[in-house]
Amino acid sequence: MANAADFIATEQRLGAHNYKPLDVVLSRGEGVHVWDVDGKQYLDCLSAYSAVNQGHCHPKIFEAMVEQAKRITLTSRAFHNDQLAGFYEDIARLTGSHKVLPMNSGAEAVESAIKAVRKWGYEQKGVEENQAEIIVFSNNFHGRTIGVVGFSTDPVARGGFGPFAPGFRVVKFGDITAFEQAITRNTVAVLIEPIQGEAGVIIPPAGYLKRMRALCTEHNITLILDEIQSGLGRTGKMLAEEHEEIEADVTLVGKALSGGFYPVSAVLSNTEVLGVLQPGQHGSTFGGNPLACAIARAALDVLVSEGMIENSAEQGSYFKAGLEDIRSNAVKEIRGRGLMLAVELQPEAGGAKKYCEALKDRGILAKDTHEHSIRIAPPLVITRDQVDWALERFQDVLTNLH
Ligand SMILES: *Cc1c(COP(=O)(O)O)cnc(C)c1O
Repeated sequence: MANAADFIATEQRLGAHNYKPLDVVLSRGEGVHVWDVDGKQYLDCLSAYSAVNQGHCHPKIFEAMVEQAKRITLTSRAFHNDQLAGFYEDIARLTGSHKVLPMNSGAEAVESAIKAVRKWGYEQKGVEENQAEIIVFSNNFHGRTIGVVGFSTDPVARGGFGPFAPGFRVVKFGDITAFEQAITRNTVAVLIEPIQGEAGVIIPPAGYLKRMRALCTEHNITLILDEIQSGLGRTGKMLAEEHEEIEADVTLVGKALSGGFYPVSAVLSNTEVLGVLQPGQHGSTFGGNPLACAIARAALDVLVSEGMIENSAEQGSYFKAGLEDIRSNAVKEIRGRGLMLAVELQPEAGGAKKYCEALKDRGILAKDTHEHSIRIAPPLVITRDQVDWALERFQDVLTNLH
């Protein structure tokens, strides 16, 4: 098995077909670049859905991983380990949180938060047993578990997978009146992405989240922000909530928490929400393991100490301005904050997929999302020269392909 076509054919034959990747087989990555099996270099404009914010194979995270792997990798939470406390301290300090629940995947963090806020609702808010409601939003994306797809509004994500858990109420994203009307005395939480990533980098109207924060406080509702994609520097701030000048009660992080080396996620809480979980009521074999903790500590450290968050803000606005300067009838709108960007194409432009194919031929890997949007999310270590290089290719593709 040597060439790209063979790898793809074998995947096709043996693997479940739950993804339809671009026809590129990657074998190496460093910083903003990845290389395919034929040695062709690409600028990565997806960053594994923002899991490699720190750049591919960051040497300091790599070193932390190897050093820890030599000592001990997994203890289970039946015993303490000497990495977990340091991880708690680091993440609590950097995000202003008081309690931390370590998990592995993003979807697990979401599920864990849902469990905790329901219990909080019964024990602290006095909601009647099994009546807890959580408000969620149209076009949400919170992962792929049964619990989570049950409140998705995407027919592809949920179709055929029922029956689903009750207790969720979906309202229109960005509509504060709809949100206010959905509140009942059984509402224990609201779960929202501060910027909807999978939906195509959708930023809510100015003041929307601030008003939601106020309503949550007024009605004693836990505000859960899913920052699994928008967090950890992606938008030019540590957390996207900072753009809105609000603080969530519960924040979910994942993806870049390990810089792409390992699945690490966490529920961060600054209220008594996580305090409701007693021994035995929740857990994870791998959650909080020493290897994950050592990797996450290094991933957080380089994000801050190497100025990646500031770079995200600076290169993000430069990239966005450059995209806005491209004169093309194919483009409907440029959206984004920091390096969480999207080009929305006109409906008659023929779909984002062919633009992503053309970008791939020119050495840029980007992913279409929701048919008409090209998502642009390079690692946060991208330089201005690399942005210029990318803009030339976007200019070419957006003006010549239409
Ligand atoms: C990716 C993502 C998730 C799910 O994370 P997994 O690690 O794939 O389970 C949840 N919420 C948001 C906003 C995401 O972008």
